[in-house]
Amino acid sequence: MTRVVVDREVCMGAGVCEMEAPEVFELDADGVPQVHEPVDLAVVETAVRACPTGALQLMD
Ligand code: SF4
Repeated sequence: MTRVVVDREVCMGAGVCEMEAPEVFELDADGVPQVHEPVDLAVVETAVRACPTGALQLMD
């Protein structure tokens, strides 16, 4: 199953992922997205591409 990994050191909390896929990403109190599984791959791929810092990675 594909998972989404968030690099907390790279994420700047812009929230683009949450805007693109609010059913998958939810920013926590620190502004870092928590990932709700399972993920819809098509939706998540859009969010991964839209992340301005490259903090999101898809892993099998
Ligand atoms: S879009 Fe990228 S930088 Fe912005 S909150 Fe999501 S993971 Fe972090």
